[in-house]
Amino acid sequence: MNAPAAHTPMMQQYLRIKAEHPDMLLFYRMGDFYELFYEDAARAAQLLGITLTTRGASAGTPIKMAGVPYHAAEQYLARLVKLGLSVAICEQVGDPATSKGPVERRVARIVTPGTLTDAALLDDHRDSLLLSLCAERGTLGLAWLNLSSGSLRVTEIPAAQLAAELERIRPAELLLPEGFAHAALAAYPALRALPAWQFDSERATELLTRQFGTHDLLAFGCAQLPAAIAAAGALLQYAQATQRGLLPHISGLTVEHQSQFVLMDAATRRNLEISETLRGEASPTLLSLLDTCATSMGSRRLRHWLHHPLRDRNVLRQRQDAISRLLDESGARDKLHRLLQGCVDVERIAGRIALSSARPRDLSGLRDTLAWLPEICAQLAQWDNPLLAAAASACMPQHATHDLLTRAIRPEPASVIREGGVIADGYDAELDELRGLQSNSGEFLMALEARERERSGIANLKVEYNRVHGFYIEVSRAQADKVPDDYRRRQTLKNAERYITPELKAFEDKALSASERALAREKLLYEGVLQALLPSLPALQALAAALADLDVLCALAQRAQTLGYCVPQFTDEAVIEICGGRHPVVESRIDDFIPNDTLLSRTRQMLLITGPNMGGKSTYMRQTALIALLACCGSFVPAQRARIGPIDQIFTRIGSSDDLAGGRSTFMVEMTETAHILHNATDNSLVLLDEIGRGTSTFDGLALAWAVARQLAEKIRAYTLFATHYFELTRLPLEWRQIANVHVEAVEHKDRIVFLHSVKEGPASQSYGLQVAALAGVPGSVIQAARRHLVTLEQGATRNDLQPDLFAAPSVATARHPVLTLLAGLDPDSLSPKAALEALYQLKSLPAE
Ligand code: ADP
Repeated sequence: MNAPAAHTPMMQQYLRIKAEHPDMLLFYRMGDFYELFYEDAARAAQLLGITLTTRGASAGTPIKMAGVPYHAAEQYLARLVKLGLSVAICEQVGDPATSKGPVERRVARIVTPGTLTDAALLDDHRDSLLLSLCAERGTLGLAWLNLSSGSLRVTEIPAAQLAAELERIRPAELLLPEGFAHAALAAYPALRALPAWQFDSERATELLTRQFGTHDLLAFGCAQLPAAIAAAGALLQYAQATQRGLLPHISGLTVEHQSQFVLMDAATRRNLEISETLRGEASPTLLSLLDTCATSMGSRRLRHWLHHPLRDRNVLRQRQDAISRLLDESGARDKLHRLLQGCVDVERIAGRIALSSARPRDLSGLRDTLAWLPEICAQLAQWDNPLLAAAASACMPQHATHDLLTRAIRPEPASVIREGGVIADGYDAELDELRGLQSNSGEFLMALEARERERSGIANLKVEYNRVHGFYIEVSRAQADKVPDDYRRRQTLKNAERYITPELKAFEDKALSASERALAREKLLYEGVLQALLPSLPALQALAAALADLDVLCALAQRAQTLGYCVPQFTDEAVIEICGGRHPVVESRIDDFIPNDTLLSRTRQMLLITGPNMGGKSTYMRQTALIALLACCGSFVPAQRARIGPIDQIFTRIGSSDDLAGGRSTFMVEMTETAHILHNATDNSLVLLDEIGRGTSTFDGLALAWAVARQLAEKIRAYTLFATHYFELTRLPLEWRQIANVHVEAVEHKDRIVFLHSVKEGPASQSYGLQVAALAGVPGSVIQAARRHLVTLEQGATRNDLQPDLFAAPSVATARHPVLTLLAGLDPDSLSPKAALEALYQLKSLPAE
């Protein structure tokens, strides 16, 4: 590009501002459009599907240009931010009428995926978080901010746990020091590398203490967390820069310790389909089932609870007790739910007040919500429970704030302050006077019209106003020659002429200046109201938290009642005992769900689960984990009775998926996840393993599955549910008493398999592979042929037949049988006799000698 001096003055201004924001798109305001230039224009045109044009030339080169209308900007911003991009929004701040050269422009705000607070850009139902990370000697410091609520949290973790933490926190945008790399970051579109010096713990301490107005950070309990502090410092600086101002609602930080939570790794959160199905959809999931919250604050809080099961049983008991009380008094609970339905998103509105970006309807909504507080408090007074009592005290009426909003804001204000109609009459004498001037104008204009009609003799003469031409007198073309001499032509239309008179002009000047002054006054007053609200922020934040908690507790009570859940009992004994347990989501989607029991204890640590495909094995395993998870969220659980001992982590190794992006095969993924479990599980962990070893050859797989089961049962002693097709494993309990066999029941009826879905003690008697194949639509003739071969094989083969040296022998005809290959998932053309026998072995376990 040419030297700036060669450009037009406007392009010089553009290039100067763009140079300050090289790594984001620049929306440059020109009249009613935001324009993008050069590469920004090309990129935006491609991403947003808007037209790319060129306009004129600057410094001899045509300027690539694309634009979005000012009024529709939010929807384009939303799309860009979703794609992980950041946008600097540059507004005209000077007055075009008085400026020489280009109007003065300044970047008014920067929109980045992790610092959104605008209602139009945010998803109501999930938090939008900005996360920063910093490495120090093998430890990672994480800090994350919810700019809407002002909540800033930090933790330190071993680098290996980054993937799990990112899955838990789910940041919308990630800040990291230049040069930092980690495999877990591959999936994140919105990464921003910052200079390493911004991650300095001393500098960070200074920034943070200045922000919180404290002498040091001791009170926050983060003295020993230099990496986390360094991350928080860089984060705060970035957030301040994007907001171009103060962040008065960030008044402290909270340290999270991993030991607070029942930990789940990234795979487990996905496999349990807590808030997203395996296909990435929002429903049906545990969250979608339970979320009957009245407010979006409640929905976000429920999502947080489900992803942050706790170990502190006192907190959980308080939640249980609160839910019990709300459950017993459904009338009062329904009333509370209705009151909550009338509440606005206090959390986000408080955030926007702090950032001076609250809209008029945010304030009127807040005012109306504050008006409900006495009633909410009255409802809460009847329950004697620490959580509900704490909520009640945070919901105490905020008279001064309510009073200010009632006096200042119109009952139904306009949606934006720009055009006025927001500040209530009677709030400010000067505004009232200016408005008076405008409203009296109606009478004046009618009188003027009557007078002019008489004076000119033109009966259909009209006095009117439009935004472009101001006031005018309109006369039809036919009558135009009758107009008095002092009429000056303003505009000529097809059938009419428009005029102005000295009197009308004088009035226009007065009225327009009154309306301009009124608008300016309103804006000033509005900013004053936002300022005056700042001291109420802590009370509003506490109110938001209380409303969210109440909403979740009511929803959980409502669900527990409707869906027939029970209170789980916590015990210090090492046990997970579930009577009549159900899978909450599967149960909600079918008519006759069969409840099942689960008993895991020190003397019964592992259940080996066998039975046909589709028999209900993974449903059974998942329901056990979901019941444990719900219990650790303080919720009731889908069971008749449940007793839950201490649980520190939940692990799952379920299903098989290729990690194509990461270049790992199914088997590699399976083994990586298994290794992770073996390294991290303890005797208080709940481990779900589904068909370990399936991704490799039968003998490798069987050997691995055997060894993994042994390690879990003998060394780690975790509570384990182990579903397997390897019939061999059902012999494990003979050696280890703490392992037990259970099976999902199925019966054969007229060559068809009927799944009973009940879990019974002991191993499955057969695998029903052919019946399942029949159910899956494999043609009857093929099934019959397979059945005949099976009989032959069963008669001939014994366990000893599976010695490798015999594998060369079986007839190729058997080996190539389509059913066997189909069930084993093998390609018939590439099937070796050995593979065929292995397939058969999976299909039907052979009798021991
Ligand atoms: P597997 O893991 O043994 O292949 P799944 O657990 O995937 O079987 O269950 C297959 C289907 O059976 C489920 O989608 C569900 O519809 C049904 N099912 C599973 N468990 C039950 C149950 N306890 N009661 C009723 N239906 C069930």
